[in-house]
Amino acid sequence: MPSSDHSPPPTPITAAAGDGIGPEVMEAVLEVLERAGARLAVEHVTAGDAAYRRGHDTGLEPAGWESVRRTGVLLKGPVTTPHGAGQRSLNVAARTRLGLFANVRPCVSYHPYVRTRHPRMDVVIVRENEEDLYAGIEHRQTDDVIQSVKLISRPGSERIVRYAFEYARTNHRQKVTAFVKDNIMKLTDGLFLRIFREVAAEYPEIRADHLIVDIGAARLADQPERFDVIVTLNLYGDIVSDIAAQVTGSVGLAGSANVGEHCALFEALHGSGPAIAGQGVANPSGLLMAAVMMLVHIGQGEAAARVHNAWLKTIEDGVHTADLFARGLSRYRVGTRAFADAVVERLGDLPRTLPTVGYASGRVAPGRAVRATPRVPAVKTLVGVDVFLHWGGDRPEELAALVAPLGGEALRLTGISNRSQSVWPEPNPSVLCTDHWRCRFRARPEGATVSHRAIVDLLARAAEAGLDFIQTENLCDFDGTPGFSAT
Ligand code: NAD
Repeated sequence: MPSSDHSPPPTPITAAAGDGIGPEVMEAVLEVLERAGARLAVEHVTAGDAAYRRGHDTGLEPAGWESVRRTGVLLKGPVTTPHGAGQRSLNVAARTRLGLFANVRPCVSYHPYVRTRHPRMDVVIVRENEEDLYAGIEHRQTDDVIQSVKLISRPGSERIVRYAFEYARTNHRQKVTAFVKDNIMKLTDGLFLRIFREVAAEYPEIRADHLIVDIGAARLADQPERFDVIVTLNLYGDIVSDIAAQVTGSVGLAGSANVGEHCALFEALHGSGPAIAGQGVANPSGLLMAAVMMLVHIGQGEAAARVHNAWLKTIEDGVHTADLFARGLSRYRVGTRAFADAVVERLGDLPRTLPTVGYASGRVAPGRAVRATPRVPAVKTLVGVDVFLHWGGDRPEELAALVAPLGGEALRLTGISNRSQSVWPEPNPSVLCTDHWRCRFRARPEGATVSHRAIVDLLARAAEAGLDFIQTENLCDFDGTPGFSAT
């Protein structure tokens, strides 16, 4: 579409075609965007195999990182996962380097044009991308036990939840559902849910509810039409977004976005398809749907809707690439180029039976609008300490006799547990005891405040007694509320 003198300047974006089928689908997608009137100034950068071979262990050349930081937008083709020592997946590198805190994955079925068991599915999964068990903080502590630390923060949770509601508002969605496991992880998942409720109250026009993640995932697989936008923590989101994409029946057509405050990355769900690379048969739809999300993100909603509706019409008309082609559903079997041409021919058309898509133009992209509220420090009182020991014995009462004197005047041993099951003072012979013991000390007298010095003294006595302490966790009240699990 020709641009007039009055049209706004093009938006700079960075494009990395990637490996395998990447270059052919990228070329097709950029052609469609241009013909749809998207105003883009595209900077092409090298990503994937060629970058790894030149020694760039993130899979993107330095000029590529510089470009993405400047444009704030990366449209990325698939990259073959590297296996070289020190080489990292580009997606992981981008997530951490660019602060991409939200993963957004629309999961849509295109019944009756693409086979699916769920004809009315149209769900968007918004997954927190930086925290949770994916922080990757792990320690081997004893012969028997390794721990992985689950970190959930107030600002991180607020940002992702607010992003989900902003996304819902921008995209005219009706409901946001949180998936949590707060019945078990009362503090971490409990915090996420509490923030979800606080933020939801600011969006009265959007319905909000929550489900325990296990039943939520089951219902999503069985009745996805009950859901609209789902927001959840990193690990649950990883699993649930794959379930959701799979049950649409059209995983090969899906795009996703990783969004941060300053940058965003848009890509297809599929990989580099090495077996079909260079044959001109790859389906460009995944990257095209990612590009639609990108256009919305940069405020070019009108072009996004034009592309999306033309693409829906193409699918409806039975113009399908080989991966989608099915007798009875498809009419024309086409390659990458011809598919893109078919979309271009339909620019300006609307789908006949699939729902027409509309996007607001010129809105601030939600990632940039999302801020966490400033921290309000609580009154923090140290009331005890959990000391974790590597101890090879198997009689809790023997351990209790060893550790009780360690508390001195300031701390009193109140309980011992093994893999979170209490084994002292009440004996519990049914517990399978490992060599990993948690000894809980509380202030003496009850209600007193504990000093850091008292904990240091306790550990010094443990060292003198030859006990192998592997970790301590301070027990603190915050504004009078215990900030630790009760047992
Ligand atoms: P894949 O998605 O590349 O291929 C799976 C199957 O789907 C193959 O049969 C392939 O031919 C087909 N396919 C994939 N994309 C297609 C398309 N656009 N049109 C038609 N058919 C398509 O998965 P894989 O083979 O497991 O992975 C290949 C490489 O890509 C691996 O190194 C993997 O780690 C990497 N990968 C990268 C990304 C990414 O960059 N985001 C995502 C997934 C996999």
